[in-house]
Amino acid sequence: METKVERIQRDIETLAQYSQVQGIGCTRYTYTKEFAQARDYIVQEMKAAGLSVREDAVGTVIGRMEGKNPSAPIIMTGSHFDTVKTGGRFDGMAGVTAALETARTLHDEGFVPERPIEFVALPEEEGARFGGGLFASRAMCGKLYHNELETYKDSDGVSMAQAMREYGLDPARADEARREKGEIDMFLELHIEQGPVLENAGKDVGIVEAIVGIKCFNVYVHGRSDHAGTTPMDMRADTMVAAARAIVAGTDKARELGDGTVVTFGRVETQPGAFNIVAKETLFDIDCRSKSLESVDKVIDAVRASLEQSQAENKGLSFDIVEKLTAQPVLVKPEAQELLEQEAAQAGISTMKLLSGAGHDAMVMGSLCDVAMIFVPSKGGRSHVPEEWTDYEQLRKGAELLCRCVRRLASK
Ligand SMILES: [Zn+2]
Repeated sequence: METKVERIQRDIETLAQYSQVQGIGCTRYTYTKEFAQARDYIVQEMKAAGLSVREDAVGTVIGRMEGKNPSAPIIMTGSHFDTVKTGGRFDGMAGVTAALETARTLHDEGFVPERPIEFVALPEEEGARFGGGLFASRAMCGKLYHNELETYKDSDGVSMAQAMREYGLDPARADEARREKGEIDMFLELHIEQGPVLENAGKDVGIVEAIVGIKCFNVYVHGRSDHAGTTPMDMRADTMVAAARAIVAGTDKARELGDGTVVTFGRVETQPGAFNIVAKETLFDIDCRSKSLESVDKVIDAVRASLEQSQAENKGLSFDIVEKLTAQPVLVKPEAQELLEQEAAQAGISTMKLLSGAGHDAMVMGSLCDVAMIFVPSKGGRSHVPEEWTDYEQLRKGAELLCRCVRRLASK
């Protein structure tokens, strides 16, 4: 008989084999041959755990454990089984494996839930093949984008619709993946942290308080090009300097807030972009995330105030801030956090509260039902790389907590 940790290791190692690129991490794009092989393994394991298995209209694998009250709002758990290019074997798979292990444990116990439990493995969360991302959860929530099946294509020019047909799905029926409000009580997702906090704190699992909200902007600073040698410092309209000040002001504000707000200025471009010419145009991007959009706005206000000050000091400068993206934070209800903490305490699993700084299917599902997330540690905080690692024993602890919570939620 395999132990729990051996079953988890087998799941992870088996699924990692189904990779389009061998020898360097895991590359499993949605609706490929390797994706179908992973699906077949998941289906086989779900059936062995006594679940009745179906595939929804976009290819989400759903294994259902029937409840005494089949029409009661269901408890759903799982994660995605696509990967980024040469990614790791735990992103997504940790949650799929924890769901499989929960199903097997409950099946072995002969557990009969009051309400149905659905164990799910979702396609195309990463968007690595077609660029959409969070696709299956959006389909479940009725949030597919207009024409995305026809217009989103992979690098070979294959549309999502075509790939779906080759995979055995009918793209014309994608809307049928939609679930009604009230049908799902709670979606629980276990995921790797993808950051260093749990490992540094020496905690077994993270209990997610909120999946952060995000705002992204393009900032354009306009000024004037001049000769780098002959133009005195007080006679320049240097956009790079104004941008640099604004970037520091935004960074300082995020630190000062101290509520987990993070801001990133990952791209700066200058025109004409020469070492010996004052930059007449500077473009930079802002990516700001927080559990509260008010905090995000404070950071953006600090950037704007700095640029206004530069403009006031130098009439040759002006700027535009263009909003590109806003996503509301998804809060985990305090009762759900409490339940996770209680179950962890009873199992001797140490916890800490965390924010999820990355988007996950649970974030999308938050528009349809209550959500909760469990994070397990990521070695060195690394993710989306072949070195991505979580010790199997740590994953077992996370899966045990998931199982306890699912059992309790499905018992009422
Ligand atoms: Zn993921």
